[in-house]
Amino acid sequence: MTHGERVADVSTPEHRTIIVVGGGPAGLAFAPVLGGWHPFFHASNVLQARYPQVADMFRQHSETLLTLDMESMLFRGIPPVDLFRVLHHPRQLYAGGDQIALEFRQQDPIDFLLLTQEPVGGLWNSVPENLLTLSPGQWMEFAFHSLAQHVEETGQSYDVNDLIIKQRLLDYYHRIPERFGVADRVREWTRVTKIEPHEAGFLVSAVDVSDWREKDPVTLRRPAFPQSEDELAGEVRQYTCKYLVYAVGQRCELRNLDVLGEDLPFVTQYYEKPVDFPGERIVVVGGGRSADWAATELHDAGRHVTYVMRQSQANHWGLINQSRGGLPYYARIAEILEGGSERLEAVYDTSIRQIAAVDGEARGVVTLSSGDTTRQIEVDHVLKEIGGSADYSLLQGFEQPLQLVEKHDNYRFQVHQARVHPHSYESIDIPNLYPGGYLAEGLGLVVIAMHGTTYAIAADILKKEGML
Ligand SMILES: Cc1cc2nc3c(=O)[nH]c(=O)nc-3n(C[C@H](O)[C@H](O)[C@H](O)COP(=O)(O)OP(=O)(O)OC[C@H]3O[C@@H](n4cnc5c(N)ncnc54)[C@H](O)[C@@H]3O)c2cc1C
Repeated sequence: MTHGERVADVSTPEHRTIIVVGGGPAGLAFAPVLGGWHPFFHASNVLQARYPQVADMFRQHSETLLTLDMESMLFRGIPPVDLFRVLHHPRQLYAGGDQIALEFRQQDPIDFLLLTQEPVGGLWNSVPENLLTLSPGQWMEFAFHSLAQHVEETGQSYDVNDLIIKQRLLDYYHRIPERFGVADRVREWTRVTKIEPHEAGFLVSAVDVSDWREKDPVTLRRPAFPQSEDELAGEVRQYTCKYLVYAVGQRCELRNLDVLGEDLPFVTQYYEKPVDFPGERIVVVGGGRSADWAATELHDAGRHVTYVMRQSQANHWGLINQSRGGLPYYARIAEILEGGSERLEAVYDTSIRQIAAVDGEARGVVTLSSGDTTRQIEVDHVLKEIGGSADYSLLQGFEQPLQLVEKHDNYRFQVHQARVHPHSYESIDIPNLYPGGYLAEGLGLVVIAMHGTTYAIAADILKKEGML
């Protein structure tokens, strides 16, 4: 909490049984389920054909699947995230709603609140305008609402097995709270600043950041949500809760290059579309999928791009070759680089040493360094696509600090995950705290799993509350 915030009536915090922090795909999934939409087994021919043991196991199970003994399932070699993934996606392509071996029925809701500092949908609010997913659109859906159903209900028509473009995915996520009658449980533009121990469980301090709604990320030069160093002027509210789901995602704190000149006005951390980059010459710094996307799109919009990566050429081409078969934008970057375009220079094993201004601060000179050699290039813009990290610093004053383990995958996601009990995803260090989505230890960073922790967490809490 920084100086300047106005404190509301903090003597009587608002109490809720559960608070979910973060409204991205991981946190948003909780809203309908805690709102009472519980999963039941639905006989699916596809599941029966592909996973007969799983289908046989549940055929007689007439209660909600939240009543399952997740610990003994785990003991039998089926972690909850895998179980619900198989029930939801018994095959990778979607051929019809009947293949999903889950159906959702409205049961009693539990008291909860979801606090998030931007619109629901998480980081998808700030990705490039034309960004496509890495996977079929329906891999991004929640089991309780298929993308096909959403397409039908909203009178649209597109193939849910195609890669899905940002706005379509966001429309789907944005509609979830209303569609499932839980909009009054979701508070957007609310930034949680501190989570402390309290006799009720947790004391959560949060600031109204609705003034950030008006901020333009292009002029701000980063996504329009606050960072820890920002001074926040909004009203402070406090909440207590018995259980806390921590689903803040792996991009809360944007990374810095930590070089001189990084704050100059032609250096940005926000890429939405080429038109925001007038001028000719752009340095893109990064090497992950976001940087690949921006470098390709800027090149195709006629810019001259110097693409600076710390990684080796072999590493970069490993990902390109792995992805070019299935992802058209990887086929495109491969084509550009193999075709030797003069407007896309990929520079490997190189880092930015310094950024300096010329012509006032309208343009600049970037110093690149590779081994013993340095080189200077003139630029109109520098685009940093160097990712971010999960922020666990909100958790303060707990007897036992969270133990974190580092996790990465071939797709270059990298995140520190919190140690959890593998059947419930409850923190092993802080009882009743549940890291959501990829923040839970052991969650493979595969595109189909980011909300797979929902059911085991909801089940654990509802059991503790005697509601199952
Ligand atoms: C460019 C890019 C492309 C990707 N493409 C894919 C893909 O194609 N397929 C796929 O499955 N995955 C993809 N991913 C992985 C991505 O992480 C997931 O799609 C998903 O967004 C993760 O969901 P999440 O809810 O864990 O985190 P997020 O989406 O990051 O959501 C977390 C939310 O919590 C909010 N928050 C953080 N701190 C606070 C706080 N203190 N107070 C209140 N709110 C807070 C954040 O602002 C955010 O809205 C991609 C990631 C990136 C960066």
